[in-house]
Amino acid sequence: MMPGSEGAISIIMGLTYLLAAALFILGLRRLGSPETARSGNMLGAAGMLIAVVVTLLDRQIVDFVWIIVGMVVGGAIGAVLARTIKMTDMPQMVALFNGFGGGASVLVASGEFIRLAGGTDAIGIESSVAIMLSLLIGTVTFSGSLVAFGKLQGLITERAVTFPLQKSLNLLLFLAALGLAVYLVATGAGVVYLVAMVAVALVLGLLLVLPIGGADMPVVIALLNSYSGLAAATTGFVLDNNMLIIAGSLVGASGFILTRIMTRAMNRSLINVMFGALGEAGSRAAGDQIGKRPVRDTSAEDAAVVLAYARHVIVVPGYGLAVSQAQHHLRELGTLLESRGVRVSYAIHPVAGRMPGHMNVLLAEADVPYDRLYDLESINDEFDRADVAMVVGANDVVNPAARDQEDSPIYGMPILNVDRSASVLVLKRSLSPGFAGIDNDLFYMGKTMMLFGDAKESIIQLSAAVKSA
Ligand code: NDP
Repeated sequence: MMPGSEGAISIIMGLTYLLAAALFILGLRRLGSPETARSGNMLGAAGMLIAVVVTLLDRQIVDFVWIIVGMVVGGAIGAVLARTIKMTDMPQMVALFNGFGGGASVLVASGEFIRLAGGTDAIGIESSVAIMLSLLIGTVTFSGSLVAFGKLQGLITERAVTFPLQKSLNLLLFLAALGLAVYLVATGAGVVYLVAMVAVALVLGLLLVLPIGGADMPVVIALLNSYSGLAAATTGFVLDNNMLIIAGSLVGASGFILTRIMTRAMNRSLINVMFGALGEAGSRAAGDQIGKRPVRDTSAEDAAVVLAYARHVIVVPGYGLAVSQAQHHLRELGTLLESRGVRVSYAIHPVAGRMPGHMNVLLAEADVPYDRLYDLESINDEFDRADVAMVVGANDVVNPAARDQEDSPIYGMPILNVDRSASVLVLKRSLSPGFAGIDNDLFYMGKTMMLFGDAKESIIQLSAAVKSA
C-alpha cells in the first residue's frame, strides 16, 4: 500500500459512514408524511446497505459467504412477509422485528464476551459495561417482543395476565440481572454467570409484557422498538462501530417519541400503560349498561340522501374500518359524493385504529388523496360547519365523554368533535363499545343516525343508494 493511502482510505470510509447516517436521518424525516414515506423508507434502506458494505470492507471481513446466504434467505423471508401480511397484522410483524433486533444484539454481545474472555488480556471496563447493557436490554426486548407477538397473533391470551406480587417479582428479577451484570463487569466471571444473567433477563421480559392488555400492545411495541434501538446502540459501543451507535440511537429516540405521542393521544401515562392496563379496566366497565337507551336507526337509502345533498361531509375512520377492510369502498363512496359536488374530508385521530398511523396507511392504500386527510388539530374546528360527520367503525376517538365528563375513564383524551356537526351518521355493527369499553353518548343524540351493519356492506349499500339519489 502506498504511504498515506491508509489515511485516505480511512477518510473515505468515514465519509461513507457519514453519508449513510445522513440517509438515515433524511429517510426518517420523510417518514413523517404518507406522501414521502415510501421514498423515506428507500433512503433508510440504501443507507443501511451502504453501512453494511462499508463495515465489511472496513473490518476486512472478506469471508462473507455466510453473510450473503443470510442476506438472501432473510431478504426472501422479509419480502414474502411484507407482501402477504394483512394491514391489521402489522403490529405483530413489527413486534417480531423488534424481537429479532434485540436477539441480534444479544448474539453479538455474547459472541464478543466469549471472544474477549478467551483472550489473554482482561476485558476493559468500557467493553464489559457495553456488553452487559447490550445483553440486558437486548434480552428483555427479545422475550418481551415475543410475548407481544404471541398476544397479537392470538397464540397466547390477549388479556392482561396478572398474579399477586408480580411487580415485586419483576423488581427482584431486575435487581438480580443487574447484580449479575455488575459482578460480571467487576470480576470478568465466566460464561455460566453470563448465561444466568440472560436467563433472568429473559424471564423479566416475559413478565413485563404479560400483564399488558391486548389493545395496549401497540404502545408497548413502540416502546420495545425504542429498546431494540438502544440495544443496537449499546452493541455499537461493544463493536466500536459509530454507524450502529447512530442507527440504534435514531431508532431508540424515534421509538420513544412515538410512545410519547401515543400515550399523550390516549391521555395515559406510560406508567399507566405498563402497570395499570386500561384494556382490562375498560372491558370490565363495559357491563350491562351499554346499548340500553333508544337510538335513531336508519337505512342506507335515507342516509344516502343526507350524504348526497350535503355540502361538506367529514369522514371519521376508526378501527372498524380496518376490521371490515372497507377502505377501497370508502374511497369509492367519497369519489362518488365528490362527483356530485360534495366536499369530502377525512379526519384522522392519532390513535384511531390499533396502531400508529393505522388510518393513514389504510386510506393511502386505497388511494385517498393525501390532501383530503386532516389531523385532529387542523380539522376539529371544521365540524361546527360540516353538514354530516360520517363515523366509520370509530368509537372512543369520537366519544364526547372524553371532553365533557370528568369522571369518564377516557376524560382528557383529545377527541374529534363529531357531535358539533349538523348531523352525524355512524356505521357500526351494534352498540358495542370500542377499546375503552365504555358507552358513547354520541350514539343517542337526536342528530345521530345509526346505520348498523358491517362497515363494508353498509358502504356498498350507501354507494348504490347515492347513485340513485
Ligand atoms: P374503537 O376501538 O373505539 O371502536 C371501534 C368500533 O368499531 C367498535 O365500537 C366496533 O363496534 C366497530 N367495529 C368493529 N368491527 C366493525 C365492522 N366490521 N364494521 C363496522 N364497525 C365495526 O376504535 P377507535 O378507532 O375509535 O379508537 C381506537 C381505540 O384504540 C382508542 O381507545 C385508542 O386509545 C386505542 N388504541 C389505539 C392505538 C393506536 O395506535 N391507534 C394503540 C392502542 C390503543 P361494533 O362491534 O358495534 O361494530
